[in-house]
Amino acid sequence: MGSLVFTIANQKGGVGKTTTAINLAAALADKKIPTLVVDLDPQANATSALGVEKQEGKSLYGPLNGEGDALSMITETQYANLFLIPSEVDLAAAEIELAQSENYLMKLRTTLQPVRDSGRFKAIIIDCPPALGMLSMNSLAAADFLLIALQCEYMALEGLGQILKVVDKLKTANVNAALEVGGIIMTMFDVRTNLSRQVVEEVKKHLPDKIFDNVIPRTVRLSEAPSFGKTIFAYDPLSPGATAYKKLSKEIIERFGLSK
Ligand code: ADP
Ligand code: MG
Repeated sequence: MGSLVFTIANQKGGVGKTTTAINLAAALADKKIPTLVVDLDPQANATSALGVEKQEGKSLYGPLNGEGDALSMITETQYANLFLIPSEVDLAAAEIELAQSENYLMKLRTTLQPVRDSGRFKAIIIDCPPALGMLSMNSLAAADFLLIALQCEYMALEGLGQILKVVDKLKTANVNAALEVGGIIMTMFDVRTNLSRQVVEEVKKHLPDKIFDNVIPRTVRLSEAPSFGKTIFAYDPLSPGATAYKKLSKEIIERFGLSK
């Protein structure tokens, strides 16, 4: 089996994309599935959360512009089976430069092809910036599956509708006809509120076969871990957040037939 490319995209910020990208990747790596996180957000939150130092010139910015290759950007992390293509602030310029280049939606797909072909990774997880700009659109063009992180809050469904529309457009315009919504991950579930439950029920009603059974609880441990440059498994392996991401990773392994 080759690599499967997942993108975690959503036009909204602060919904748990990065938290999900790194902890899901860490859970897969823990199961000995070679996993690569691609940090596509110029803010480089996934890079710091994995404890990797930001470094000028170490991101996909060069390769996206035809300078250097993606393979040489792959960095080890402190975790076995978990690798990273880091980000740094230069990547912000790619938003503008991509828009001016030919075949601008296919740049990331082409750039990542050697990484896919290398066969080094079973799962490649792209962490997107909080907007459906050029970088996120490129990730949707490059991915096999979109994983949507959806915060359990008012208006969640409205945001969901917007991104689903974009997916449809990319498919019908043949930018990425094979793209599929791989699943919806409900994040920051608050057991104390009815709202959280209602939102989950609503999404279940509309997309019963897309929503993952395991919702991610709102817990302070998940928000603390990145400031120590650690995944939840390294920071507090017995916490509810760690358990939730581990269970989610099991669902993902089953749904997509991932194995080591
Ligand atoms: P995004 O990448 O979508 O902008 P983040 O994953 O960075 O979102 O999450 C936004 C903020 O919420 C961060 O401070 C993060 O630590 C925190 N956070 C994310 N998921 C949870 C959760 N399940 N419980 C508590 N805090 C969370
Ligand atoms: Mg983020």
